[in-house]
Amino acid sequence: SLYNMVQDLKGNIRVYCRIRPAFKHEEENVIDFIGQDGCLVVVDPRKPEKDGKKMFQFNRIFSPTATQDEVFRDTQPLVRSVMDGYNVCIFAYGQTGSGKTHTMSGSAKELGISYLALNDLFEMSDKRKDVTKYEIQVQLVEIYNEQVRDLLAEDSGATKYPFHIVYFGFLTINTLEIRSCVSDNNLALPDATLCPVKSTVDIINLMKLGEQNRAVGSTAVNIQSSRSHSVLSVHVQGEDVSGSILRSCLHLVDLAGSERIDKSEVTGDGLREAQHINKSLSCLVDVMTALAQKNSHIPYRNSKLTLLLQNSLGGNAKTLMFAHVGPEGDSFGETMSTLKFAQRVS
Ligand code: ADP
Ligand code: MG
Repeated sequence: SLYNMVQDLKGNIRVYCRIRPAFKHEEENVIDFIGQDGCLVVVDPRKPEKDGKKMFQFNRIFSPTATQDEVFRDTQPLVRSVMDGYNVCIFAYGQTGSGKTHTMSGSAKELGISYLALNDLFEMSDKRKDVTKYEIQVQLVEIYNEQVRDLLAEDSGATKYPFHIVYFGFLTINTLEIRSCVSDNNLALPDATLCPVKSTVDIINLMKLGEQNRAVGSTAVNIQSSRSHSVLSVHVQGEDVSGSILRSCLHLVDLAGSERIDKSEVTGDGLREAQHINKSLSCLVDVMTALAQKNSHIPYRNSKLTLLLQNSLGGNAKTLMFAHVGPEGDSFGETMSTLKFAQRVS
């Protein structure tokens, strides 16, 4: 029934909140987070009394002491559903420094969801190998200024055309085309390098290549990395003994920082950049909001990011958003806007 369809739509969005631990230098003027059973109370350090307390509700809250493994354990069922043919999107939202990359990629010592998820898919594929033959392939791209760059190309456009040239608009690099209305057997990014992967070592090597490609040609890597979206797309194909084939996709997305860009930075070419970043990120916000409100029109086509993620947002797809917040009191406003958005779509 229509009712069930609508319920399904809504039921397929989950929101987890993860709180970053305080750094040493942050011990003063910190936001107090009190979380229990999916309920989070946030205390404004400037007015800790009654009206400075705000309450939110999420599917799950990870305290500052939560480990990477704990976070992954609650993500695992979603990841595994990819092997049964579901499209899944997991994305990290929050301001710069709130822990998005920590959750999605992590570090060599504390591997993040991207590595743990792929590792889990490899293990599952091995366990099921007598029944279903799986093939796993990945693409890794970056969206910056509404341009899509292939981060796994051995000879990426960036090597030939330094990124600052693109930035000033003198030259345009080969920005990848996104195919809309993706059917079962074709890719949204037909021209991005597609790498077959079989082990965690393969993933680590590809991520290294991605980092290199990201760095080459960029004059301001740090600015770029906080203002670009990185999308790791895992394409799974399974063929069972009867010869029937299922295809699905897992998108793992480390979004650009959600902070509003300081007006003083927004001049000249910076203006163009800020507008573009707002475009992909604010379009994602619009799409998530429209899905949560069960609108009949979902505005996927308004940005590169939402067009790319279209098949894993809404419909039968399963979507998980990590809302990241940090304890620094100075960014209380940004923290509240992250939590309000997260609350709105959960
Ligand atoms: P973002 O990608 O949102 O800009 P990062 O993931 O780079 O933020 O996190 C900023 C810093 O905080 C990094 O040094 C990271 O290692 C650290 N950090 C973030 N989240 C955690 C966490 N849950 N536990 C420990 N360190 C964290
Ligand atoms: Mg980051």
